Amino acid sequence: MGALEDKQKKGLVFNIQKYSVHDGPGIRTIVFLKGCALSCRWCSNPESQKRRPELAYNVGRCLTLNKCVRCLEACARGALIRQDDGTLRIDRDRCGDCAMSCAEACPAQGLIVYGQERTVDDVLKVVEQDAAFYTRSSGGLTLSGGEPLLQGEFAAAILREARRRRIKTAVETCGMASSDTLREAAHYLNYVLFDIKHMDTAVHEAQTGVPNGHILENFRILAEEFPDLPILARTPVIPGFNDTEEAVAAIATFLQPFEHVRYEMLPYHRLGTQKYHFLDRTPPMGDVTLDKNIMPRLQRAAQAVLHERVQIPR
Ligand code: SF4
Ligand code: SF4
Repeated sequence: MGALEDKQKKGLVFNIQKYSVHDGPGIRTIVFLKGCALSCRWCSNPESQKRRPELAYNVGRCLTLNKCVRCLEACARGALIRQDDGTLRIDRDRCGDCAMSCAEACPAQGLIVYGQERTVDDVLKVVEQDAAFYTRSSGGLTLSGGEPLLQGEFAAAILREARRRRIKTAVETCGMASSDTLREAAHYLNYVLFDIKHMDTAVHEAQTGVPNGHILENFRILAEEFPDLPILARTPVIPGFNDTEEAVAAIATFLQPFEHVRYEMLPYHRLGTQKYHFLDRTPPMGDVTLDKNIMPRLQRAAQAVLHERVQIPR
């Protein structure tokens, strides 16, 4: 595809986060694309999952309808309901399919829209603002989500155009995307962060909504067809799902033949909890926490198979 066509390609972006040091080498700008084929119970970005813009309500920021009625006046669909205490309830059956002018009218960020249509050129103009940091730190752009490769044409256009602008690229993927999209993206990638969550497909499906076969097949494609592309396989360690030495050893055994692949485990956290409430959703994991003593044991289980290929998160 030509440069002009790539620059004008549009997709749905829900966040751009600067100065990250956890999502690939060096200092990076993370571009989050909306939509995911999985519905992991522990997802810390619930606003990423649906493939359409979503309205969220942050009651802590709302001035309340006792002082401000701008959103009520802006909504032509009667989707905002006044509650007795002056706060709002979003009638989600009525809400949507509109210009989301309520959020635009809000002076306090009480209403937020997750998901904005942006062009590749728009996105890369933001990414390029930190080009000096990338050069000094060997950093660059990381595409994340959701699953960024679900918006396959948009993701590929961002990666191609970033390559033209000499920005190094990485992707964070759950592996649940078309194999052809993955191959196309791989030509323009410098680094891949690939989630491997569980080797038992029934357990994987029960907790993420999909079996693991296609994900593992995509991992093999990437590792075997692109042996020069560095891959960091990552496992989010989730209480009651994969926080056992057996589960980690099974993943490490799968990774063992791919000698250039490194491995990292990330302990479960509850940072996304508030966003579930903004979206009127109940956090599926409740109050569960991870036993702090488990990580060193899991590290040792992985190191027994992968040795120095296991890295500790920064
Ligand atoms: S997103 Fe649209 S329908 Fe929903 S509350 Fe806002 S203006 Fe009304
Ligand atoms: S416009 Fe914003 S601050 Fe005003 S009532 Fe609506 S959500 Fe609250």
